[in-house]
Amino acid sequence: MKVWIDGKLVDEAEATISVFDHAVLYGDGVFEGIRVYGGKIFRCDDHVARLIESAKAIRLPLKMTAEEIVDGMVAAIEANGVVDGYIRLVVTRGTGDLGLDPFICKKSTVFVIAATIQLYPQEMYENGLAVIIAKTPRRSHAVIPSAAKTLNYLNNIIAKMEAIDAGAGEAIMLNANGQVAEATGDNIFIVTGGIVVTPPLEAGILIGITRNLVIELAGELGVPVEQRAMDPAELFAADECFLTGTAAEVIAVTTIDGKTIGNGKAGPITMKLLEAFREKTKAL
Ligand code: PMP
Repeated sequence: MKVWIDGKLVDEAEATISVFDHAVLYGDGVFEGIRVYGGKIFRCDDHVARLIESAKAIRLPLKMTAEEIVDGMVAAIEANGVVDGYIRLVVTRGTGDLGLDPFICKKSTVFVIAATIQLYPQEMYENGLAVIIAKTPRRSHAVIPSAAKTLNYLNNIIAKMEAIDAGAGEAIMLNANGQVAEATGDNIFIVTGGIVVTPPLEAGILIGITRNLVIELAGELGVPVEQRAMDPAELFAADECFLTGTAAEVIAVTTIDGKTIGNGKAGPITMKLLEAFREKTKAL
């Protein structure tokens, strides 16, 4: 595999960063996970815009323009012959010393890995995922702006381990107020009485690119959408529940903590949104 790093394509063994990079020492940096469909970068502008916003939120100066970053992604896709796959775009804080001070880190690194992706089997899109509600709370929006997609994912990883221990596919995280925030790597939606509901930014969520597109698609399908605080009890009472994310696309949740949601199959609105989403990925 070839990796694009700081403007050059190199063999993966040569794609290295310093052990003094604050990305390694402190998880200090930002990233994006992006899909490639039919050789094209899906929602490229949205992802680059979010990367720039994430960098701003943690005061990390980007040493490359948006165009240079896109060129890097295209180079990595082409060098690896990726047609349908996944891009990991990362900006590290850079090489510093053992102290926390980020301002001494002058040499940040930008790298792009373009690879194939392990997808959920189609059967899972019809039968849905079993998830749990994590005991680990989602860290507050006030701790790290949750709109920033930073390299510091330990909060999510700890909740993900709870899901793995329970034999579940994902864990839903509640915020400090006990309200629904998001899954460890996906946003969450419910359908109740024909209305699609999803938690707002203030709940402590990443504003997912897939989430935004699904909200748009619901609008096109004439399905009303509400972004509002959501009580966990609403999950169990919902007609449908689904997750959205770059890797998962739109996937139904059919059990939570072992309790069946709706009729235990992917619901009709979930399936319509998945279909509309997949149409978009074909129309690149
Ligand atoms: N929430 C979290 C915590 C995530 O890491 C992700 C992305 N993996 C999402 C939501 C979904 O965002 P997107 O649709 O942009 O992939």
